[in-house]
Amino acid sequence: MVNLPSTLGNLALSGKVAIVTGGGSGIGRASCLALAQVGALVIVAGRTLSKVCEVAEEITARGGAALPVAVDVSKGADVQRMIAFAAETFGGVDILFNNAGISPVGSVTEISEDEWDECLAIDLRSVFLGAKYVIPELKRRGGGVILNTAGTFGVRPGRNKAAYAAAKAGVINLTRAIALDYARDRIRCNAVCPGYVDTPLNAGVAIDQRNLFLEAHQPLPGLIQAEEVASLVVYLASDAAKMITGQALLIDGGQQVGLF
Ligand code: NAD
Repeated sequence: MVNLPSTLGNLALSGKVAIVTGGGSGIGRASCLALAQVGALVIVAGRTLSKVCEVAEEITARGGAALPVAVDVSKGADVQRMIAFAAETFGGVDILFNNAGISPVGSVTEISEDEWDECLAIDLRSVFLGAKYVIPELKRRGGGVILNTAGTFGVRPGRNKAAYAAAKAGVINLTRAIALDYARDRIRCNAVCPGYVDTPLNAGVAIDQRNLFLEAHQPLPGLIQAEEVASLVVYLASDAAKMITGQALLIDGGQQVGLF
C-alpha cells in the first residue's frame, strides 16, 4: 500500500441513508448493492414488492443494511410515504436516486395519449415528486444528494421513442433547475445518462437489433453493465463529487451523442 494522501476515502458512504427507486432490478438493483457495499443504509424502493424484498434480503445476507418498500413513483402520496419510511426506520435521508422508469416504443402517431401520460408520469413526474418531498428531509440533514436516471435519448433522441425521449430530456433540465435552486442548501443534483445497458428494460430487444445499434453507435466494444452505472452513482453520491452539481453525465461507451 502506498502511503500518499488520498481523496478516495471520500467515496465511503458509511451511515448515509440512500433511497433507490426501481431498486428491484437492473441499474437500481446494482446501485443498491454498490451503495450498501460502501456503507450506506439502503431503502430499496420499487413497484413490485417481491423484487425489492429480494434485493434487500440479498444486501442483509451479505452484511449490509437495507429495507424494502413498495412505491409507485408517479404518485405523490406513495413518494411521501417512501421518504417518511426512510426517516422513521433509518432516521433521515441523505441520498435519493430517482431511477425507476419505463421505455415505451413508438413515434407520436403510434403511441396513445394514455401511453404518453404514463411514460411522462413514471419517468419525469417521479423526479419532480421525489425532489419535492425529499428536499425538506435533506435540508434537515444540512444537505444531501439527488440523482436521476436520464439517458442518452434525453440528449439526442433515437427513433420510435418519442415519449421516452421527451421525458428524459425533461429529467436533464429538471436536474439542472433543482441543482440551481438548492445549491446554497448544499443539495447537489445530477443525472446519469446511460447508453444501451444490459437490463430487463431491454429484454424485448432482439439480439440482432441490439448488435446493429451497438455497431452503429457505440465505439467501445461490449455491453454496458448495470454495475458500471452503479459505480458512477456511488461516485456522484459521495463527497468525492462534492463540487459536481447540475450535470448530466454520459456513460455510453463513447457514443458522443452531445456532438451530433
Ligand atoms: P429495469 O426495467 O430493470 O428497471 C426499471 C425499474 O423501475 C423496474 O424495477 C420497475 O419495476 C421499476 N418501475 C417501473 N415503473 C415504476 C413505478 N411506477 N413505480 C416504481 N417503480 C417502477 O431497467 P433499467 O434499465 O435498470 O432502468 C432503470 C432506469 O434506467 C430507467 O429510468 C431507464 O429509463 C433508465 N435507462 C436505461 C437504459 C438501458 O439501456 N437499460 C438506458 C438509459 C436509461
